[in-house]
Order: sequence, then structure tokens, then C-alpha cells
Amino acid sequence: MAAEISEQFEDAGANLMHSEREIAEMLATLVDGYQVQRNEALSSVQHRLLENTDLDATSFFGGSNTSLDAGELDDSNVWGDMEIQVLQLWDVDHEAIAQKGLIGDHSGTTMFTAFTSSDLPRLEEGASYRLTNVVTDEYEGEYSVKLNSKTGIEPLGEDVEVAETVTTLEGALVAIQSPSGLIKRCPEDDCSRVVGSGSCPDHGDVAGEFDMRLKAVLDDGEDAHRVLFDQEATEAITGISMGEAKQQAMDALDTSVVEDRMRDLLVGRYYRAEARQTGSWYLVDEVEAFHENADVAALRAEASSLAEQLGSEMADAAA
Ligand SMILES: [Zn+2]
Repeated sequence: MAAEISEQFEDAGANLMHSEREIAEMLATLVDGYQVQRNEALSSVQHRLLENTDLDATSFFGGSNTSLDAGELDDSNVWGDMEIQVLQLWDVDHEAIAQKGLIGDHSGTTMFTAFTSSDLPRLEEGASYRLTNVVTDEYEGEYSVKLNSKTGIEPLGEDVEVAETVTTLEGALVAIQSPSGLIKRCPEDDCSRVVGSGSCPDHGDVAGEFDMRLKAVLDDGEDAHRVLFDQEATEAITGISMGEAKQQAMDALDTSVVEDRMRDLLVGRYYRAEARQTGSWYLVDEVEAFHENADVAALRAEASSLAEQLGSEMADAAA
């Protein structure tokens, strides 16, 4: 395989900086060390070597790149092309990263990352593009795509349609992550970061504005999903209004009592949520208590009606 790769680059007129022996070692690391399939190892090494040449990736591969579907990524280190719409651009917290956000197509959505060193044109929110030579990545079971210096970015004339990704999740709410409940957010434009101890990570000391949210984990028996409730959804699932939450916090001189209270109310109970997936989070639109809880209520109602019936039958018998 190493000889083939070496020859392929020679034929394309590129001066490789790696010897055949080094190429063989790269392949061996992937195949033996990381159990990567042989054809994927081949593609991975070809792309890595291509990075250090002037060759055009699309013509090097003869336009035969894999076509990737945003909603159906299930392997890492796969190179390919995709037609997508940029749905969201997210704040970037590291100088090595130029852009990151959410992209989507007919099959669903995924995250993308572009690196500063690749020096690519910037993607615009809401615009559609054909991306060539992107590579898939995996982190804690979530798949994403990475743009690199060989990635081609071609704006498309018409919008790529994105699949609606509203999902119904059913399961036990197994955890609530801090800070949840009553929180304060930075009031600066386009910031809204959570303010801890009166200080925003970006804007320093600020007078935070109250908000409610829940960061929770919903376990459907197969997977644990990270779900996010905004103020409205938090009020819906807990039955605690913003006013009541503020009152509880004032009484205790501590906002964390609200989170504790919500944890007591919710953890271990079953819920059904309609949620939109964005990256690794589900944003809850609608939520209701699920059958395990409802059954308890139904059983209680049945028991009390039986008791009533029994009572009246005994009264009749006595009469
Ligand atoms: Zn801020």
C-alpha cells in the first residue's frame, strides 16, 4: 500500500516529504494501532500527505470522493464532500479554531469545525455551500466534520433543504447539572453567558439578569441524552414560575435552593419531551410526565373510586 501511495504522488508530480517506509509506518499505526479499516487508512494517509503538497485534492482523487450525509455520519476519519446549509455559528473559545457551528442537509444536522491554520473563507449563517474534502471526526459518540486546508468551499445558488430534526424522547430524568434552576445571564448584547459570582467570563463584573433553565440528562434505556430546558420549558416541567423561583431564592438568600428543589421534584421520574437536536444537545419544546408517573395517578384514582364503591355497598348492606 505504501508503495502504491508513493507511486500515485510521483505520477501526480508531487515531491513527497515522506519516504515509503514512513508511509508504511503511518499506515501500520492506523491499521494495527487504531484498528482503522485498510481502505480508510489509505484514504486518511493520502489526505494527510496531500496537505503538504500543492496538488488539488478534487483532481487528485478524480472527483470520486465519498458523498457524506450530515445526519448519517457514523464513522470517524472518512473523507468526503457534502452539500449543506449553515444553520448556526457558535462562539469560538480557542484561537486555533476559526469557526464552528451547526450545518444540515436532507438527512439531518451535524457540527463543523474550521481551523485558523487552514485559512479558509468564512461560512455565513443561513448560506448553502458545497464542501469538498472534509473529514469526519468523533468525540464521545458525537460525529462532526472538520474543514482543513484542502477543503473546497463553493457557495450554492439555492438553499440546501434541511430535515426537520424534532425528536420525541421518552425516559427517566436521571440527572440535573449545575448551574440549573434560577441563574443569572450577562446582559451584554449577543453574550447571554451564565454569570457566576457576579462575573461574566467575557465581560467581567456585570449585573446579571435572572433566567431559568435546566441542563438535564434523560435516559431512554438505551442512551443518555443531554437535554436543555429554557425558561418556558423549565416552568412547564417543574410547575415553578419565575416569580416563585425568585421568592424561594430570596427567602433562602441563595439561588441554589431552586436547583435543589427542582432536582428533588424531577430526578427519577419519567418524561416525554419533544426536542430539537443541535449538536450534542436536545432543546426541549414540549414536555409532559410520562406513563410511569401517570400510572401512579391512575392507580390512586382507581383505588379511591373502589373504596368509595365499597363504602356505599357496605352502607347498603348495613341498611
Ligand atoms: Zn458577557
